[in-house]
Amino acid sequence: MRYYSTEGRSPKVGFRKALMRGLAPDGGLYMPESFPERRWTSSHFADVAMLTLSGFVPRTGLIESCREAFNFPVPLQKLGENLFVLELFYGPTLSFKDFGARFMARQMRLALKKGERINIVVATSGDTGSAVASGFYGVPGVNVFILYPKGRVTNLQELQMITFGGNIHALEVAGDFDDCQMIAKEILGDAGLRMELNLSSANSINIGRLLPQMPYYFEAAEKLRWKYGRKEKPIIVVPSGNFGSLTAGLFARAMGLPVEFFVAAVNSNCAVPAYLAIGTMRSRDTIPTLSNAMDVGNPSNWRRIVDHCGGDSVRINNALRAITVTDRETEAAIFSTHDKFGYIVDPHTAVGLHAAGEIAKRGFSRTPIIVLATAHPAKFRETVERVTRLTLEIPGRLAVVMSRESKKISAPASKEEIVKIIKAAQ
Ligand SMILES: *Cc1c(COP(=O)(O)O)cnc(C)c1O
Repeated sequence: MRYYSTEGRSPKVGFRKALMRGLAPDGGLYMPESFPERRWTSSHFADVAMLTLSGFVPRTGLIESCREAFNFPVPLQKLGENLFVLELFYGPTLSFKDFGARFMARQMRLALKKGERINIVVATSGDTGSAVASGFYGVPGVNVFILYPKGRVTNLQELQMITFGGNIHALEVAGDFDDCQMIAKEILGDAGLRMELNLSSANSINIGRLLPQMPYYFEAAEKLRWKYGRKEKPIIVVPSGNFGSLTAGLFARAMGLPVEFFVAAVNSNCAVPAYLAIGTMRSRDTIPTLSNAMDVGNPSNWRRIVDHCGGDSVRINNALRAITVTDRETEAAIFSTHDKFGYIVDPHTAVGLHAAGEIAKRGFSRTPIIVLATAHPAKFRETVERVTRLTLEIPGRLAVVMSRESKKISAPASKEEIVKIIKAAQ
């Protein structure tokens, strides 16, 4: 498989080059040139993943990457007659970002030449940082620098980033998420530094983090059919921020995934619903919401979606709808999901469940709807406990970090100072 840049001014490259670069030299995002039809099914998720990814990633080491990266279950739960939830939070950091980060880390290890070193710089509002830290911890030749905003991530999210040490450098930046993202972009966009330090990114602009999110869509479709005997095409609801997961869903659809259409369930920050309605993307400051991992105004993967649909708004509208969910509706969905089904959801999944209810009301009450459950409720315990009045148990793999020592590095919101920290760690 070759990968082209959405900007069209860089040569096509193979998977490993696209993976190590992150962004194409012309500033574009890498896209697969074609989508091989996917036929076979399997009962083990690691094999489902391997079958899905084999057309996109070199064969050497692929089986091992899949078995090691996807060593946790991916259950599809039935909540109501036509309502299903795909639980994507059984990885080590309890969010679906483990799928992308764990696979990407193993592929980077394979792509590194003997003696070669790489430095990964990533900005995070919480979940990406912990998944990337856990995925890359102890990988030889890889140094990771995580930039997170001081005081803006939850206590558990922070502990999951700052307690690794070793090749994981967690930088607490005196600024907000936008500052972190801007500094990361400046560092990654500095051609001199890129050469000197062999820099790459681990955000979902990297195709290597996006592709390993395709397999769980096939898992959902197969379980709907074989476990629950439903033969109709489902509607799949995707809680979305940067639209990486949704882009992977569209790729899976191009490979033959049976799906009626996708629903991007977003919070009040997202400009996509207005864009689909009136055709212009507005830009404004993000405000903190209960679903903080989706506090994104202009999703970076939107360029991929537009490119994938050939820039045709009719095709985009056929493939996906977008529904905005407010914090009040999010809280109401957490409450009613527990009340009605005895099922506890985190705020991001709750955004999806509210959107699912809206879609069912708009003439799809008989169609099976699958909502992606993107995080374990314990990860967003404060909100969930307040709304449900329950006390949640913290899963063991999350509890262990609470006793570990912090190895965080404090940094000002300045590119120069952060570059100094990176250089000092070489
Ligand atoms: C990152 C994240 C999302 C949004 O995913 P995108 O691929 O950025 O759209 C949703 N829910 C949770 C819990 C997340 O961590």
